[in-house]
Amino acid sequence: MSRFFTKRLAKLTPYTPGEQPRDMQYIKLNTNESPFPPSPAVIQAATIEAGRLQLYSDPTCRELTDKLASLYGVAPEQVILTNGSDEVLNFAFMAFADEDHPLVFPAITYGFYPVFAELNRIPYEEIPLKADFSVNYRDYLNLGGKTIVIANPNAPTGLCLTLAEIEEIVRTNPDGVVVIDEAYVDFGAESAVTLTDKYENLLVTQTFSKSRSLAGARLGFGIGGKALIADLHTVRYSTNPYNVNRMTAAAGYAALCDNDYYMQNCRTIMENRAYTTDALRALGFEVLPSLTNFVFAKTDKMSGEALYLELKRRGILVRHFGKAEITDYNRITIGTREQMEAFIATVSDILKEL
Ligand SMILES: *Cc1c(COP(=O)(O)O)cnc(C)c1O
Repeated sequence: MSRFFTKRLAKLTPYTPGEQPRDMQYIKLNTNESPFPPSPAVIQAATIEAGRLQLYSDPTCRELTDKLASLYGVAPEQVILTNGSDEVLNFAFMAFADEDHPLVFPAITYGFYPVFAELNRIPYEEIPLKADFSVNYRDYLNLGGKTIVIANPNAPTGLCLTLAEIEEIVRTNPDGVVVIDEAYVDFGAESAVTLTDKYENLLVTQTFSKSRSLAGARLGFGIGGKALIADLHTVRYSTNPYNVNRMTAAAGYAALCDNDYYMQNCRTIMENRAYTTDALRALGFEVLPSLTNFVFAKTDKMSGEALYLELKRRGILVRHFGKAEITDYNRITIGTREQMEAFIATVSDILKEL
């Protein structure tokens, strides 16, 4: 650290992304990417756009915004496109949270929330999960003007609240913004986008990183009431109006034109998730019932960390978190059927060798 780093930021603990190792070919089940490549039309669209990179991108993302709005059944003024959904989350924290509207989120959830809170000097409160790792929606009712953030389904547990529970949270917090982070919603959960017309305090965020095979392109979006979205655009134009680059905007548009391809991939992931869950349970694992593209699992035969390290040694990467409450677990991204069969065979070998 230099002696110039401000006192405020010197204390910041940054987010730790999952490993992206270069030393060997791993079966990569650690960062919830899609195992499927983008559709051919997406690759072609991004390639064509690469030839126009001397020009700035369209700061309004007009075509992509209109396409997304029509697919999700909302008005274009209800949509903001961002550089990954991490960016719309950061914008939302900047726009809607401060000392008078502190953040509230579950104690076990996406690791970026406390980082963005600290970066933006926003006080935050973490609410413990129930013993079964679910979010108790009653803890989030009637919180006055606080800003609530809930990943639904939650990460890294994979568990969901119902739409009725989400609506109850939004309805009982009319003076605070409720952000529902739906990064994993395409893998079987119910979306709260349908409520954004009815409640002016609801912001739903989603991403092209998981279900639409574009993690490396960085494309996310927010859907909410028109006034909330206008505020987010104010923050965006005050940060980087060209936050979505030309290749990514073209890739995103083509991906929405090929939506059936991606939704079919999601169904395949859900089948592979059922296979993996059953196979891990047959090996004695406890597996939380997931509605995402990962499962969260533990065995009492070895520690979470020991299993993570042994899998890595054998060429399979999963994600292990050090946090005490979840250190027994590993988060395993659902890949292709072949990858999951290799994973299960390797876990089975490891357990036999104990
Ligand atoms: C992956 C993820 C995101 C954001 O991913 P981007 O690649 O920035 O779109 C947001 N929230 C949760 C819970 C995630 O798991």
